[in-house]
Amino acid sequence: MSGLLSVEEVLARVLARVQVLPSESVPIADALGRVLAEDIIASFSVPPFRNSAMDGYAVRAADVSNATAETPVSLTPIEDISAGRMPQRTIGQGEAARIMTGAPLPPGADAVVPVEDTDDRWRVEGYTPLPARVAVFRPVAAGGNVRPAGEDIQAGQVVLRAGTILRPQDIGVLVSLGFGTLAVRRQPRVSILATGDELVEVGQPLLPGQIHNSNSYMLAGLVQQCGGIPFRLPVARDTLDEVRARFEEALALQPDFVLSSAGVSVGTHDVVRVVVEQLGRIEVWRVNVKPGKPLAFGQVGGVPFFGLPGNPVSAMVTFELFVRPALHKALGADPLAVPLTTAVLEEDLTLDGRRTYVRVILRERNGELVARTTGTQSSSVLMSMVLADGLMIIPEGQSRVAAGSRFPVRLLRPLLHSG
Ligand code: AMP
Ligand code: MG
Repeated sequence: MSGLLSVEEVLARVLARVQVLPSESVPIADALGRVLAEDIIASFSVPPFRNSAMDGYAVRAADVSNATAETPVSLTPIEDISAGRMPQRTIGQGEAARIMTGAPLPPGADAVVPVEDTDDRWRVEGYTPLPARVAVFRPVAAGGNVRPAGEDIQAGQVVLRAGTILRPQDIGVLVSLGFGTLAVRRQPRVSILATGDELVEVGQPLLPGQIHNSNSYMLAGLVQQCGGIPFRLPVARDTLDEVRARFEEALALQPDFVLSSAGVSVGTHDVVRVVVEQLGRIEVWRVNVKPGKPLAFGQVGGVPFFGLPGNPVSAMVTFELFVRPALHKALGADPLAVPLTTAVLEEDLTLDGRRTYVRVILRERNGELVARTTGTQSSSVLMSMVLADGLMIIPEGQSRVAAGSRFPVRLLRPLLHSG
């Protein structure tokens, strides 16, 4: 189809205009979901010292190699080592130290016999003084139940790369390495506008012909999900003065991006284009995608601007395709990384030849994922996004695809199993 740009061409043009934001320092407790601004290199090993993986007795493995339940090996406990304390003695031949999980292994010992494999009864009877002798019922291999120093992380290792979106386990590792603060990317500030004479804010009664401004809230949620800070502006009527005033308010918030929904098509009241041309520059691209009307992109007051379609599904899908990658690039994260799987279509589909993102419900059948549509694929039916597990990607140039075909699916949520 001539005059249409592919999703990839448009994405490349958008990304070329996006700058990576500066970094800032945050306390580790506030770092969840933030994006690392630099590689993290371990300055010491974790664990820093060789320690016991079990409650039991630190021994020399060679001393207990012949131990059995019938012919136990008797050792002399010389010390109690609890977690957090350093051993004071070296284990000699025929000796052992009672040791707790996480406590440093004493010199001389090379293995830990679990308490269950001894006649020590402390597990059953509570704390008991160190016995004069302990019987070991089972051999243990050298290194058995011992965690070597650096088992988790080696000093000098690159633990996390710049661009990582921090998860709880990443935070845990960073704290184990002593990071109390971190260099992360500043969060992009995103001003969100909605235009339309038919729109009223939630909480206001709907008069005949009116609908609630749902796009602004949905887009704010998407921005937050991407690690940005959304600023929702009041609805602008479809007049040049009001739309212009709203854009000026949006710019006063010193945003890194400006988003608007609706008003960029060819409707007689679509004034967004006019206003953006006054305040900056705009390009409107016809994208070979469905859903998705023309996408407007440019700058207002020097700030990157996206004019998204008004239809809620189109707004959300074009956000996913173009705005999410832009926000991720600004954050220094990989703009192209998306959760992707494949699934087998369960029904025939008729298409118009555009790249189509079909809202699908996924389930597992005989060990493979199968997909059925959410029902009507109208771009005004936001329930299709509520019901969908993912967007099945049908390549351009198809007028019909048959049940049984396999296509990639971009996941909109993790696939859950209950029970
Ligand atoms: P437009 O791009 O102005 O032609 O709008 C396309 C469709 O999207 C129309 O049905 C609008 O009523 C609807 N729409 C526009 N803006 C919003 C919004 N903020 N929230 C929900 N629906 C909207
Ligand atoms: Mg409109």
